[in-house]
Amino acid sequence: MTSHDSVKNCAVKFTAYTAKDYKSELKPIWCPGCGDYSVAAALYRALAAIGRPPHEIALISGIGCSSRLPGYTTAYGFNSLHGRALPIAQGVKMASPELLVIVAGGDGDGFSIGGGHVPHAIRRNPDLTYLVMDNQVYGLTKGQVSPTSPRGTQSHASTFGSIEEPVNPLLYALAYGANFVAQAVPADLEGMTKIIEEAIRYPGFAFVNIQSPCVTFGDPENQAKVQKARMRNLQTEGHDVTNHLRAMELAEEYGTTLYTGIFYRNPQPPPTYGGQIVDRQQMLKAKTPIEALA
Ligand code: SF4
Ligand code: MG
Repeated sequence: MTSHDSVKNCAVKFTAYTAKDYKSELKPIWCPGCGDYSVAAALYRALAAIGRPPHEIALISGIGCSSRLPGYTTAYGFNSLHGRALPIAQGVKMASPELLVIVAGGDGDGFSIGGGHVPHAIRRNPDLTYLVMDNQVYGLTKGQVSPTSPRGTQSHASTFGSIEEPVNPLLYALAYGANFVAQAVPADLEGMTKIIEEAIRYPGFAFVNIQSPCVTFGDPENQAKVQKARMRNLQTEGHDVTNHLRAMELAEEYGTTLYTGIFYRNPQPPPTYGGQIVDRQQMLKAKTPIEALA
């Protein structure tokens, strides 16, 4: 573990924070019943459990309904460009490694417009937590099919149905080597809070796919009540979170079985990008300029 990582995972509470300390005064403009309200609530609780003060946290997002999240927190926030949350977050983390950096966005932002950034963030392993609010639709732009919409999805703006296969975000993250991969649903607020907390505490890139229902344009079969009836918790079912192959098998059921919990957690977290940068800087500092060029 590097000095950077220890900052994120510091077990010492500086003071006692409550969920309210992370909630800004800005009133969310999400539709009533949107799953993103619960995601915000879970995030506030997870941050309170971790206990870092809001000014030591940065929340970076792209564009979309869920990307409004930074404005609803008291942390530093950057509601950036469509699909560009991950590169911006990596830059923030490199420039200010002492910050706890969380990235938030939707399925379109993360797996279509920003899809090319995900594998590179995973392979670099920066110490970031990536929360994707996956509702299988573009909500902000009024209901087009998104990269995670199942084939055949008929939506408000795609009346004849999708003719494309969906991206499987869980398999995608696992296949590219993410060391922490989990899925949560707003219908299980307590479980989602714990998963977000664990993801934030994990030293390295942690990915959480949150099946956050869009009540306005989303599939009626993927709303909170239905999710509550369908969800199956991996930990309750005894899944071994260190078994990568089994995690991939379970992830293949994305879209058919609604698993919640941790799919994979590498018990031996590899070096983070930030940690390696520090090591490289120290190695170069020990050399003369001529030696460094050799
Ligand atoms: Fe939420 Fe959908 Fe409304 Fe956007 S359009 S705020 S995702 S319910
Ligand atoms: Mg979406």
